[in-house]
Amino acid sequence: MKKNVIFVICIAWSLLFLANCNNDDEITDDFDQTETVDDGATDEDTETEDDGATDEDTETEDDDAIESVWDAFYNVENIYIQGDYVYINTFDLPDHVSAFYPEDDSLYAAYDGDNGNFSTTITAGGQTFDPEIAAQNYTFKIPINPVVNTSHQSTSGGPIGVALNGVVIYNQYNGAGTVLDDLEFNNTDQYNGHPTPNTGGYHYHIEPTWLTRNDPGALIGFLLDGFPIYGPVEEGVELFTADLDDYHGHTAATAEYPDGIYHYHATSDAPWINGDGYWGTPGTVSQ
Ligand SMILES: [Zn+2]
Ligand SMILES: [Zn+2]
Repeated sequence: MKKNVIFVICIAWSLLFLANCNNDDEITDDFDQTETVDDGATDEDTETEDDGATDEDTETEDDDAIESVWDAFYNVENIYIQGDYVYINTFDLPDHVSAFYPEDDSLYAAYDGDNGNFSTTITAGGQTFDPEIAAQNYTFKIPINPVVNTSHQSTSGGPIGVALNGVVIYNQYNGAGTVLDDLEFNNTDQYNGHPTPNTGGYHYHIEPTWLTRNDPGALIGFLLDGFPIYGPVEEGVELFTADLDDYHGHTAATAEYPDGIYHYHATSDAPWINGDGYWGTPGTVSQ
């Protein structure tokens, strides 16, 4: 009799252990790391309210749906959802070849695009630079339930969003505040990105063709306000700026948001990704 009881307990314990193992498998290393980072920073403000209210009812349904969108990010150091925000930490190093990588880097490749005026030498402010891509360290905090904000805050210089491969997205202006022109485009590499002259921080101002190479209407990334950015094609039709509103987007169903969502489109004409400002309230980016 005793033996049986012990046996049953062993079985039960094994099952529990197995269940725990399975859980552990689902939680990635990334999430393990983030828990420690998170706990210190936010115990006071967010955790208390959220935890009590939502553990039982919402977490299971909602998180799966939300996380599946954010699961599209790769080549980032860390990504996790906490409260109403997704946090994305990236070193901003493109996962594709570039003429701007140092020549001894495995991702260096000479320019093979169709711009005969391409050059890795950048002229800015009367000076010339030969920048190489260098690691940055950005952390984006982006709302996961974006809502329109009718003040449509202007974008600023530097990162205004992040692409699915962890590369940062800049607005349509150069460092001097004028809309990009041939001068800059002669310095965009085979996948439409380039580094800043001074920091080597790589960025896209226009469609990152690496991310749309298989599907010209694919999800590209997100602006800081949490609204997604798609490639130029929707339902087989190429969109241009004239098809979009002043902020360079519109509301429609997408593969990731079948119920419809406001989203930006990268187009081949200016202002390329964003227009007069954010559709929603931007989160933050820190370095
Ligand atoms: Zn630039
Ligand atoms: Zn659309």
